[in-house]
Amino acid sequence: MQDAETLTPAEALRAPGIETPASAPPAEAERPKMKRTVENRQLKRIQHIHTVVMTVAGLGGLISAICLHFLVQPVSAAALGIFGLFFFSVGMGLTIGYHRHFTHRSYKAPTALRVLLGILGSMAGQGPIVFWTALHRMHHEMADKPGDPHSPNLHGEGLVNKVRGIWHAYIGWTVQHEVPNANFYSRDLLADAPIMWVNKRYYLWIALGLALPALLGLALTGTAYGALEGLLWGGLIRMFALHNVIWWITSFAHVFGSRDYQSRDLSTNNFWLALPTLGESWHNNHHAFPRAAILSLHWWQIDISGGVVAILEKLGIVSEVCRVSAEDKQKRQANPSRH
Ligand SMILES: [Zn+2]
Ligand SMILES: [Zn+2]
Repeated sequence: MQDAETLTPAEALRAPGIETPASAPPAEAERPKMKRTVENRQLKRIQHIHTVVMTVAGLGGLISAICLHFLVQPVSAAALGIFGLFFFSVGMGLTIGYHRHFTHRSYKAPTALRVLLGILGSMAGQGPIVFWTALHRMHHEMADKPGDPHSPNLHGEGLVNKVRGIWHAYIGWTVQHEVPNANFYSRDLLADAPIMWVNKRYYLWIALGLALPALLGLALTGTAYGALEGLLWGGLIRMFALHNVIWWITSFAHVFGSRDYQSRDLSTNNFWLALPTLGESWHNNHHAFPRAAILSLHWWQIDISGGVVAILEKLGIVSEVCRVSAEDKQKRQANPSRH
């Protein structure tokens, strides 16, 4: 295995010591010479407006639900249950779908499951699959260096600059980032017909992600108020919560916490965020071993998403699950003197 510092960006997308399947992104040298970002101001504006609309809608849903809770009647158990169900399902679409399968190719899945995960991930309102994967691959390639769309570590020294950096990595970047070139970063997905079918219907899935919890609320309570609560809790508040979960990772998981393994960036592990992030807060583990499907590298590191992948593997539904070997773990152990 190579030393962490000598890895090329393309190699960084592949965990050391784990064989790369043919479907992984092409190596740097194999790619045609093309720009990493698209110089299209209109497209950039549309992407930034999209984020603002999704964020404001989520926040509006949360404020409405708080008003209803205090002014009309306390939130029902059905609404909280619907929130939990959709937080988990759409969260899985993001973590084991968008992130670990589509971006990092950490396991193989049948088309029906890939399409389902793509649809669930789309419901989060964080952009279509191709855009999300391209942006996230760009993050891994440039992590904590100029060109990283959401590094908290590029704003200089001192407390004020640190806070500015965290603000940028939390939410500021969503209206500032460059548009990644999908032809450069996500060529494998552009050639993936079922996934492009999902990608093209992105707004339909967002609408479905709002309609389904409303219908479930109606079915459970038999009232229009129940449907409204379903829409708010399972739709808009769930969207707001999952946006924040991802922003915890983009910001806090490159600033606070421990750096247990060598990686080319400043990514960190955060125990306290493991449950709400469904395991994604083992972010230093992830940057050190980007293709690993299971981010838990010790028995006490809870990774719910990795657990779901392991269950799907046991059931024979997914295959070729990338795991970190004991040897790789040992070789990448962080050197305490470098902290
Ligand atoms: Zn990643
Ligand atoms: Zn990161």
